[in-house]
Formats: sequence, structure tokens, C-alpha cells
Amino acid sequence: MDKLEQIFTTINETSEQYEQNSDFTYLEGVLHTLEDILDGKIDWSFKDATKEEIRKAIQLAILKGMRKNSQPNHQMTPDTLGLLVGYFVEQFMEEKLKNGPISILDPAVGTGNLLLTVMNLLDGKTFATGIEVDEMLIRLAADTAELTKQPLMLYHQDALQKMLVDPVDVVVCDLPVGYYPNEEVAIDYELCAHEGMSYAHHLFIEQSINHSKEGAYLFFLIPANLFESEQSKELHKYLKKHTWIQAVIQLPNGLFANKALEKSILIVQKQSKEYSAPREVLLAKVPTMSNKQALAAFFEKVQIWKENK
Ligand code: SAM
Repeated sequence: MDKLEQIFTTINETSEQYEQNSDFTYLEGVLHTLEDILDGKIDWSFKDATKEEIRKAIQLAILKGMRKNSQPNHQMTPDTLGLLVGYFVEQFMEEKLKNGPISILDPAVGTGNLLLTVMNLLDGKTFATGIEVDEMLIRLAADTAELTKQPLMLYHQDALQKMLVDPVDVVVCDLPVGYYPNEEVAIDYELCAHEGMSYAHHLFIEQSINHSKEGAYLFFLIPANLFESEQSKELHKYLKKHTWIQAVIQLPNGLFANKALEKSILIVQKQSKEYSAPREVLLAKVPTMSNKQALAAFFEKVQIWKENK
């Protein structure tokens, strides 16, 4: 058994015991297991495990728990997407990263899987803030951050209400998609719908831009049809006013269970006097991950765009 499997087995066995011997669901069992590890109640003989081995083992246990009690709004961001977002953060922040750690915000941090995938990739070069409305998910994020020793500050709140977060260098966010029910809060946003309810994912984009430094880069996992809805004209106008759209990256269809769940990556830069808009927007499609040749050609296309931007 490799280290990852051993860690997963330890978490899995205790989580199953919690599920069988108490009222807990398996996922609640995972949470209690992680807390037991941190409290020293479980023998944790994995001191030499890498941060990625720990994150991935916890991720497998959380995935198992989510499959057992499916919660469609609480989908964890899978590794493939996290690694791609991390790759883009590394590319766009290459220069800044040479000058010391960068600050990252994920306003819909969930289990922390996306944010911690990016932080592990840029290990030692980031510090981050995460916001999440769901208590169990934010506790899972907190425990995973502690076990992987990543500097992550978490706030349990509605991210569309006032946030006490200093402007950041980078935002990463797998946007929650749907209508936002709190119209009293939505009214303060430029992207508040003129009629009916506002889209939470639009407000999340605006809130993220509000909490970014000038020149910051924002990396959003968006619904693939984001620019096709009846409110999308307003969103496009808003993005043109406050940001420079850098890239829209389509993801391989095979990554998603059905068409309605397909996502893309949208990368924008908050406007600033120091920088200018890219010559052209990078429009590209990530090939199927198993096609190594096509994948290499995709990364080359990104490099060429970057050099000419
Ligand atoms: N990246 C996360 C991960 O790896 O686990 C998954 C993000 S999931 C697609 C969207 C998250 O947004 C969910 O965890 C949901 O609970 C959270 N969310 C939805 N509305 C929110 C709000 N108003 N404020 C804060 N979090 C919210």
C-alpha cells in the first residue's frame, strides 16, 4: 500500500466506525476523524507524508461521503480542474511570485479542495482566505488546511454580505450557480437583476472583483453557458468596465456527468493604471487528458499567447 492509500484507510476505517456506531453520516464521521487526528486521539503515523498525499487521501474520503449523501450544491472541485487552475495561477503570477508570497481568496471555498490544490502546487508561496456558508464543509476545509500546514484563514458566512478581507492578488473560485435569495443584499450590487432574482454566480464575480487589488488576476470555474443567459449582457458590460478578459478556456466534455454541468475557466484581470489589456483574448479548449500530444500542444498555445500578450 502506498502512503496515500494508508492515510485513506486510516480515515476510512474510523469514519465507518462513526457511521456504524452513532447517528453520524459517513461524511460527519470523516469530519470527526480529522478532528480526532488533530486532537491526538488517533495514532497519526504519517508525519513524513507529503501535503498532496494528505489532501488527496482526505479528498477520497470526502468524495465517498458525498456520493453516499449526494448534495448537488456542495460538489467538491475535482483534482483535474484544481490542477488546471493552479497551472494558470502559476503562469499568470510568474513575475509576482518571484517577489514573495501572494494572497489568494476563494469566496466559495467548500471543502477547500480547489484552494488547497492550488496552495500545495505553489507551496510556501501563498497565504489564503476562504469563505463558506456551510458549516460542515468549512470545518472540513479547516481540518485539511491544518493537516497540510497551509496558511488558510476561514470565515463562516455568506460571502455576498460584507466581508472583512483585505484586497488580494488572486481569486480562485468554483462559482456556486443559481439564484441568490437575499434581495436586500443583492440590491447593493451593480449586477443586481433589474427584474426578478439575481444570479448568485454573477454577484460572486462582482464581490470577488471588489475584494481584489488593482491588477489582480481572478480565475473562475463558470458554467459553460455563462454568456448565454438573459442576464449575461449585463455581466459582459460589467466585466468590460472593471476588468480585462484574459482567457476563456473550455474544458473536456468527458469531465462532466452531463451537459448542464459543463464548466469553463474564465480568467480576468482587474483593471489598473499599471497594466493594459491583452492584445487578444485566449480562447482555447483543453483536450482529453489522456491525449498527451494534444495536451502538449494546448500548453504550447498558452505559452505562445503569454509571450505575445
Ligand atoms: N471549490 C470547492 C471545493 O473544492 O470544495 C467547491 C465549491 S462549490 C462548487 C460552491 C460552494 O459555494 C459550496 O460549498 C456552497 O456551500 C458555497 N456557497 C454557496 N452560496 C454561498 C454564499 N452565499 N456564501 C458562501 N458560500 C456559498
